[in-house]
Amino acid sequence: PENVQDLSKEFATVAGPLTVLNRLTVEMAAGDCLAITGPSGSGKSTLLYIIGLLDTPTAGEVVIRGEQPLRFGAAAQARFRSREIGFIFQDHHLLPQCSVLENVLIPTLAAGGAGAEEKARATALLERVGLAERTHHRPAQLSGGERQRVAVCRAMINQPSLVLADEPTGNLDRKTAETVGSLLLELTAEQQAMLICVTHSLELAERFPIRKELLDGKLVDVVTS
Ligand code: ATP
Ligand code: MG
Repeated sequence: PENVQDLSKEFATVAGPLTVLNRLTVEMAAGDCLAITGPSGSGKSTLLYIIGLLDTPTAGEVVIRGEQPLRFGAAAQARFRSREIGFIFQDHHLLPQCSVLENVLIPTLAAGGAGAEEKARATALLERVGLAERTHHRPAQLSGGERQRVAVCRAMINQPSLVLADEPTGNLDRKTAETVGSLLLELTAEQQAMLICVTHSLELAERFPIRKELLDGKLVDVVTS
C-alpha cells in the first residue's frame, strides 16, 4: 500500500539541475488521511502532481491500489487517473463555460459520459455540500467557497480511491475554510478513500490523523506537543 516509492524529482534550470524531491516514500492505506505542510518552494505541489499523474518523476515509482500507472500507455493512464484519483487545485480550475453540474460531471466523461446514474450522484453530492440551488450557475456566478465546494464534488464524483488536494482552503476565509476542510475529510472517510492534503494552514493540518512536513526533499514527521 505505497503511493510513491523512492521518488525523486529534478528540474533542469539555467543554474544546473535542481533536486526538489530526494528519494522520498509515502506509505498509505485505504482510509488514511495525510496532511503535508512545508515551506514555500519545498516541492509540495510537485509531489502532489506526480502522485496525481500530472507530472512525471525523475526516478521512482507511483503505486496506487497495487498498480503502477506510470508504466501504462497514455490512454490507459488517463482512464486510470479519472477512475482512481480526484484532484483539487488551489484555484479550483473549474471550466468557466460549463455549469456547476457539468463541471462536477467532467471526470465521468473519460469513462463514456454522464448517464442518469452519474447525474444523480452529482446532484446528491451538490446537495450534500449545500449547493442544490446552484447547479445551473456558472463558476463566475459563485463565491470562492462555493467554487471550492464544487471542486470537491468534482474530485469525488468517480468515488476515487485517492483524493489529492493542493491548498484547498488557501483562498478562503477561516469559517469557509473550516467548512470545506470538513467536507473533504467527511466525504473521503465515507468512501474509505486516501486523502493527501497540502496546506499552509496549521488549523487544517491539525485535523488530520497523519501529518508530515516536506523539508530538504524528504517527508518528516510533524512533532506535536
Ligand atoms: P508553495 O507552498 O509556494 O506552493 P511548493 O512547496 O508547492 O510551494 P513547488 O511548486 O512544488 O513548491 O516547487 C518546488 C520547487 O521547484 C520550487 O523551487 C520551484 O521553483 C521549482 N520548480 C517547480 N516547477 C518547476 C519547473 N517546471 N522548472 C524548474 N523549476 C521548477
Ligand atoms: Mg504549491
